[in-house]
Amino acid sequence: MSKLCVSLTETTASDMLDAMRELPPQVDVAEIRMDYLKGGYQEVISALHMICRRRDRRIIITNRPVREGGRWAGDESQRLAVLEEAAQSGADYIDIEWESLTDMDVSGVSCRKIVSYHNFEETPRDLAGIYNKCKENGADVVKIAAMARDICDSARMLNFLQEHSKLAPPLIALCMGEEGIATRVLAPKFGGFLSFASQSREKQSAPGQIGCENMLNMYQFHKISPSTKIYGVVANPVSHSMSPAIHNTAFKHERLDAVYLPFKVKDPEPFLNSFLSLGLKGLSVTIPHKEKMMALVDDMDDMSKKIGALNTINILSGRKHGFNTDISAAMRVLKSTIKNTDTKALSRCKVLLLGAGGAARAIAYGLCGTAEDLIIANRTDERAVKLAQEINARYCSMDEMPDCRPDIIINTTSVGMSPKTNAMPVPPQMLEHRPLIFDAIYNPVETRLLREAKKAGCATAYGFDWFIDQAVQQFEIWTERKAPTKIMADVVRNKLAVV
Ligand code: NAP
Repeated sequence: MSKLCVSLTETTASDMLDAMRELPPQVDVAEIRMDYLKGGYQEVISALHMICRRRDRRIIITNRPVREGGRWAGDESQRLAVLEEAAQSGADYIDIEWESLTDMDVSGVSCRKIVSYHNFEETPRDLAGIYNKCKENGADVVKIAAMARDICDSARMLNFLQEHSKLAPPLIALCMGEEGIATRVLAPKFGGFLSFASQSREKQSAPGQIGCENMLNMYQFHKISPSTKIYGVVANPVSHSMSPAIHNTAFKHERLDAVYLPFKVKDPEPFLNSFLSLGLKGLSVTIPHKEKMMALVDDMDDMSKKIGALNTINILSGRKHGFNTDISAAMRVLKSTIKNTDTKALSRCKVLLLGAGGAARAIAYGLCGTAEDLIIANRTDERAVKLAQEINARYCSMDEMPDCRPDIIINTTSVGMSPKTNAMPVPPQMLEHRPLIFDAIYNPVETRLLREAKKAGCATAYGFDWFIDQAVQQFEIWTERKAPTKIMADVVRNKLAVV
């Protein structure tokens, strides 16, 4: 079973020990980064003895030099002497850089030697050559940590890990950087000896390290096994995405053997090819890949074809099936608001759609042929004209908007979105005849437009519900079971810090 190790980067022995005690019990090993300790050689040795004596779990002693991304800038022989002393003082593992081992006297060492290779520039092609050299140097465990320049480097690292999972010595194989997150989380699936996490998001000792709280609770590191199904969101950028929190929480709640990852993808084609063979089962697809993915799936639903974009892929027996849950989710939210209020049937409604970007397209396609009259307005007129022509709707300028007197106003512009939450996309007098207001914005959950609409007695539909429903539909496509909607909504609400 793969172990979870948290790197501790405190500057005194007592802070290291306090930090170790605060770690959750599910953290199997603490890596003590001796190079972060303050003081000269003798003080570091005293700190080492204290840590070895008082530790509450297994420890790796690491003393990384500056040239390998660490902080030890002092004498090289003293750096290695710290490791030799650690080996004699009861450390469970010492981490020795692969080129340092020959300079070190490790005879009689009882603890296990992690022989490590680091590359902060790239993931080299010859991973097997590095593994063999570390093995020849007497490694009890080989560690290879290399920067991922592309998500496909992570796929290569995971394949390499899988190929070596049954061989001796065991292997820690990780990619650093945002594109390397999959290698950190999936180590148990592919037979990794160990994976590293940080104490918290702020205390990373290597780029791309995940906080141990997220590793244990969101990704459920210790539940990941060779049978775990892989899902994820394909985006660029991806770090802001709330989808990993939503879907992992839903998987956990439903006790599914599945994990959901953020994939920062530049080119979706090689990404798909490399992760399919690793057991990828489904994807959320978002900006900028919604259109490009169309050419890469085996088939897709009618809505995806109609709008020319998909946001969901389900992979069954290697075949990739595309869906668009954005449109159906928006329509579900709008129709249920109409049903639960005294708004007249959509087929008799005049709808004003504000905006001409991605959200507007989804709603425009959902509404076309459904609403009696659809009018599109946008800051940049030409984009509204183009969208209106595409779906045979009407267009009006922003100045003409107040004269429309629509039954429904849908805002799909980012006006009112956090942090500029005081902005309103329509003048308040447009609320006077009490149209239904649907605001696509979900951050904040209640925009100023929605607040003013409620005050004016309008029916209201929330972008928040749209956002949750598209994720709910994705979950149901992948798992063929009912999604825990409330649990998923609560995660997002908490993330947005709205109670
Ligand atoms: P987008 O493609 O970038 O489009 C942005 C739209 O907002 C364009 O029509 C743009 O007009 C308009 N706009 C931006 N700044 C403006 C300003 N200062 N004054 C007037 N109009 C302005 O973005 P998107 O993907 O459609 O997203 C738009 C909003 O919908 C965002 O708040 C997003 O979070 C939300 N959204 C929510 C969901 C959901 O599930 N609830 C789904 C998708 C999007 P121009 O054409 O003139 O630039």
